[in-house]
Amino acid sequence: VAAVSAAAGAACYRWYERWRAAQAGEEGEAEVAAGVAGLIGNTPLVRINSLSEATGCEVLGKAEFLNPGGSSKDRIALFLVEQAERAGRLAPRTGSCIFEGTSGSTGISLAMVARAKGYLCHIVMPSDQAVEKAQLLERYGATVERVEPRPIVDRDNFVNVARRRAAEFGGRGGGGGARGFFADQFETPLNAEAHYRTTGPEIVRQTRGRVDAFVHGAGTGGTIAGVARCLKERVPGVRCFLADPQGSGLANRVNHGVLFADTEREGTRRRQQVDSLVEGVGLNRLTRNAAALFPARGCLLDGAETVSDRDAARMARWLVARDGLFVGSSSALNCVAALRVARRLGPGHTVVTVLADGGQRHLTRFWSDAAVAARLGAPVAAPASLAEFD
Ligand code: PMP
Repeated sequence: VAAVSAAAGAACYRWYERWRAAQAGEEGEAEVAAGVAGLIGNTPLVRINSLSEATGCEVLGKAEFLNPGGSSKDRIALFLVEQAERAGRLAPRTGSCIFEGTSGSTGISLAMVARAKGYLCHIVMPSDQAVEKAQLLERYGATVERVEPRPIVDRDNFVNVARRRAAEFGGRGGGGGARGFFADQFETPLNAEAHYRTTGPEIVRQTRGRVDAFVHGAGTGGTIAGVARCLKERVPGVRCFLADPQGSGLANRVNHGVLFADTEREGTRRRQQVDSLVEGVGLNRLTRNAAALFPARGCLLDGAETVSDRDAARMARWLVARDGLFVGSSSALNCVAALRVARRLGPGHTVVTVLADGGQRHLTRFWSDAAVAARLGAPVAAPASLAEFD
């Protein structure tokens, strides 16, 4: 009897130890990220309480601002570089250099990944962009070349300069296998592929496949094309909606099949600046990644919501006041569109959107009350209720 009760006591103690370790999170594999690249992706979904309570839906945001480089662009930076390594186009610590023409988050993500993996990084950006971005890139060790703003058809447009610099660098050889690699986020299909392989499956897993709608804007089109393709393959009945800023032509393309005036026939190289306070999204040309939204049979999208700058600015101020979420302009735009979609679907549905970056990168423009008032002709504040968004 004594032996039996001693064994039972020991078993009980082992069970208790396991339970205690599980409570303390001490069980299983040690949870250590393999360098900064290991911190990229697997971002949580956050319930946006104010929007969820107002609609009776679960309105969820993919917290991409928690990536180490501060935005969803970390995913494509890592994926493009690793695919180039696999293809033998880049090898670490050979003096090779990553080139991109970008005014935004992609450059910051590429500069970070370059440092973490042992590459040089050269970013070409238009000279009218906020100086903080160039400073941040330099702190990450990138060289920054600022060029006069010109249209995409001009050979000295920032994207074209970046492509040329990569070719020149490659041509120089530099011995020891140094290569120039042009990341080309607008045109490479690997951009959408990164989201098809990571962001999309994470959303399916995190919602246990219970997602009724996905809402997102398009800057290159990579995120929405990759996530929409993944969700449509895996979640029966899911609907995907584009959130489009004022001045962008993509919503018309989705809702009415209206082609962009002169760009589609000529391919994908033309770029017009979309006239919006919201940064990082809006298209008036069909990049190769946005074109992936329109496969031969139909369209991956079920509709598009055009969101005014005023509504995006008011939503951002609402979210920080009510939910403590301090987000960037494209995230606020996404939330206006997600609110509309949730209202239309009615209570009981799950609507997922993306919080692509935080407000910190937007302090001098979108988060400056003075800059917003100057742009919109009137000051903007958080509305008293969500009924003010139609
Ligand atoms: N939000 C922000 C802050 C961005 O920088 C971008 C990319 N330009 C997007 C959204 C849009 O993502 P995508 O390029 O995948 O369409």
